[in-house]
Amino acid sequence: MPILLLTLPLLTVLCSALPPVETEVEADYVLRGATVYDGTGAKGDKADVAIRGERIVAVGKFTASGKPRIIDAVGLIVAPGFIDLHTHSDESLTQEKTNANLCYVHQGVTTVVTGNCGFGPTDVGAYFQKLEKRKTGTNVIHLVPHNAVREAVLKNANRAPKADELQKMEALVDQGMKDGAWGLSTGLIYNPGTYSRTDEIVALAKVAARNGGFYASHIRDEGTGALVAIDEALTVGRDAGLPVHISHLKASGPKSWGKAGDEVALIERARKAGQAVTADQYPYTASSTSLAAMVIPAQYREGEHKEFLERLADAEQGPKIRKAIEEQIGGKEGAKRLRVARYKPKPQWQGKDLDALATAENSTPLDIVLEIQRNGGAQMVNFGMSEEDVRLIMRQPFVATASDGSSQLITADTVPHPRSYGCFARKISHYSLAEKVVPLEQALRSATGLPADILKLPERGYLKPAYFADVMVFDPKTYHDVATYDKPHQYATGVRYVFVNGKLVIDEGKFTEELPGKVLRHQGKSVEKK
Ligand SMILES: [Zn+2]
Repeated sequence: MPILLLTLPLLTVLCSALPPVETEVEADYVLRGATVYDGTGAKGDKADVAIRGERIVAVGKFTASGKPRIIDAVGLIVAPGFIDLHTHSDESLTQEKTNANLCYVHQGVTTVVTGNCGFGPTDVGAYFQKLEKRKTGTNVIHLVPHNAVREAVLKNANRAPKADELQKMEALVDQGMKDGAWGLSTGLIYNPGTYSRTDEIVALAKVAARNGGFYASHIRDEGTGALVAIDEALTVGRDAGLPVHISHLKASGPKSWGKAGDEVALIERARKAGQAVTADQYPYTASSTSLAAMVIPAQYREGEHKEFLERLADAEQGPKIRKAIEEQIGGKEGAKRLRVARYKPKPQWQGKDLDALATAENSTPLDIVLEIQRNGGAQMVNFGMSEEDVRLIMRQPFVATASDGSSQLITADTVPHPRSYGCFARKISHYSLAEKVVPLEQALRSATGLPADILKLPERGYLKPAYFADVMVFDPKTYHDVATYDKPHQYATGVRYVFVNGKLVIDEGKFTEELPGKVLRHQGKSVEKK
């Protein structure tokens, strides 16, 4: 066919010489004149974006038909809606005052993952129905939570499961995956997951693997034992045959400062050897979790609350427990790092650290801890990371942005970690645009295409025609986090428009009262696609 061979190149030359023919698309919305970042990590490009129904229908140059609302986006940045791989919004999204997920929507988040750190509903089907009945501001994805699965079968026992108990746990994971969960999560510093051995996790991860899911882990030790703990997660991935995701990667506690490089190197080695390994991070030097998980060694947390109190009162065990807690607190400097975030019996303690409380109450940090534990425990903020480690982890191309927060009520009287309100805005405004730790295209990819790839989430996470219209539009001059450690309940500023499934949730910076979020159900291995 010599004619075809000759004419094809000729045709190409002719075509490129002609002015581009603008395609015509029917649209409900046209974002005009924006700088578009598509989620791949490519630099921004001037383009228009058209949305019709639930979908993006065009990106680039086109003429719009129908009666679209034209949004002037000159000077603004358009990106795929952010995907938060790690939240604890399981409860709050099912509740009337927090289902709109406003602290996230105001940052440009359109999808959140629940079921993290091994916590959350095990009856995935019932949970999804509850969410659909309540309706949500963002899409929701769920993981099967290991702590809750173990609790359902073994309560808070410090032992390995018997064969029939393991089978029950496997059945729960299998049912959760079949009901639409995207993987298995563990939280191995928490009860009762902390009592599991690696072989138990491998067995359960195999069930997730069979269903096309991944393994996300709050690893067993985020401090001096982090390398061993990462290695355990890698073992689970290899033995069960599924991708591994390290949640909120960090080097926690002054003794671990400077060790983030070793953690990254270990993950890099596994990646180079062909293993699928990723991580996420929130851009802060403080973490947040329960006081018990922070300062009471796991062997003393077995069983029911009253058993802990009995052990504490015991003449032999009591002094050992006190000594162990004191060691964990780490003296005056350690007590200064630990700040009360939520403690219902004494809200006036919220926002204050253990050292300050001990001084004010004429007590010791240990006795403050014991009083809190006797009254049911507290949520804490721990200023335990170094700035250099946070930045080093952030630079890694396999690290996604994820908040580890939850949907908050802005009028709440608590003093939680500011990450629920500021995580994504802080990474982009402070670390990328101001401090240049990562280029903007990488900061945006880490909140969009990368988390979508980690989840193997179809048709979201990228700004492409035919993809779902989860789209966020922000003004780079005014986009920033406002939430601080002292005053966390403040929305981020600068997000102008947020579309969730083609519906405006934020319009000219304001919440529209729309709740177009969907439960996104994992479809199992057969339709796994990219
Ligand atoms: Zn966690």
